[in-house]
Amino acid sequence: MKVIENVDLRPFNTLQLPAIASRYCEAASVDDLRAALAANGEGRVLILGGGSNVVLAQDFDGLVLRPLLRGRELLGDDGEYRHVRVGAGESWADAVAWTLEQGWGGLENLSLIPGLSGAAPIQNIGAYGVELEAVLDRLEALDLVSGEVREFTRAECRFGYRDSVFKRELAGRVVITALRLKLPLDWQPRLGYRELADALASTGIDRPSPRDVADAVIALRQRKLPDWRVLGNAGSFFKNPVVNTDTYATLRIAHPGVVGHQQSDGSVKLAAGWLIEQAGWKGRDLGRVGMYERQALVLVNRGGATGAEVLALRDAVRASVHERFGVDLEPEPLVV
Ligand SMILES: Cc1cc2nc3c(=O)[nH]c(=O)nc-3n(C[C@H](O)[C@H](O)[C@H](O)COP(=O)(O)OP(=O)(O)OC[C@H]3O[C@@H](n4cnc5c(N)ncnc54)[C@H](O)[C@@H]3O)c2cc1C
Repeated sequence: MKVIENVDLRPFNTLQLPAIASRYCEAASVDDLRAALAANGEGRVLILGGGSNVVLAQDFDGLVLRPLLRGRELLGDDGEYRHVRVGAGESWADAVAWTLEQGWGGLENLSLIPGLSGAAPIQNIGAYGVELEAVLDRLEALDLVSGEVREFTRAECRFGYRDSVFKRELAGRVVITALRLKLPLDWQPRLGYRELADALASTGIDRPSPRDVADAVIALRQRKLPDWRVLGNAGSFFKNPVVNTDTYATLRIAHPGVVGHQQSDGSVKLAAGWLIEQAGWKGRDLGRVGMYERQALVLVNRGGATGAEVLALRDAVRASVHERFGVDLEPEPLVV
């Protein structure tokens, strides 16, 4: 475990923004984490995984700590689920691919999401109709106040739409060190998401395997999302706003084309991409950043942009959408 001074974080964030960390440390074990935190004393700490959900708006005066604890193993099965443990430092996409190689279904809808496994619970990652909470049994985390490793059950994680207790009351309080996932032995494809069902139907496969579902998800993602290695981005930049039925009804009168999905609690989730597109931002740039031409929800770095430019575009898009629809957009990534 080595603490390095004045490290450029550009290679460690997918928006490819420049920022200098005054101290930087990669931890391979819980002991490494404890030692780095002890050496940092009262200094500021930023836990950084793959940097695919952060906006580095300025230099960071403090310790950037990367939990790179490895390991993935089958713990056993309980007759209903296979239990799998994945270290926080494992790439999430590689962990999903590994389960599929073993022939285990359960994670296929969450294929190809960038970042490290330890960050997956922070915003309860989700895609194609499945969120992490559906497959997480519990997690292990180092409590920065007590210095102890403790477990959080799924209920204790208090998951919501792109939300968890780790973004709220416990923000900056714990370092997630491992996930315990539960994969159903009696696997069934989850094809509730229309685009995915259509993609599979078009292949003519009527009894898809987990691999088939993953292949369809990967093809859809590759078609819609830019490769961050080529065009820096953080995936969807805004959450889909959730409104009540009255607001939705009013919106539909003024904007009959508004795209909304009814939720089980009666609320309606609006398609943020549609709102941004209608507000005129699809494919439009502001300085060296812009909203992606194939998916208006994705903010891209056209090359050499700074965090300040990202924040300026964020504010401009939010203002346009608010002015046109009276709806507030909430950004997904953490601004540092
Ligand atoms: C092209 C692209 C597509 C994407 N698609 C999706 C998608 O379909 N669905 C989706 O939900 N997200 C998506 N994302 C967002 C992102 O991939 C996820 O949020 C991912 O889980 C972030 O992982 P990370 O390791 O990069 O986290 P980071 O960006 O490094 O960190 C994100 C947050 O988690 C905290 N954190 C990181 N690791 C830990 C840890 N071990 N313990 C405690 N806190 C930690 C950080 O402090 C920060 O607050 C996409 C991003 C990109 C670039």
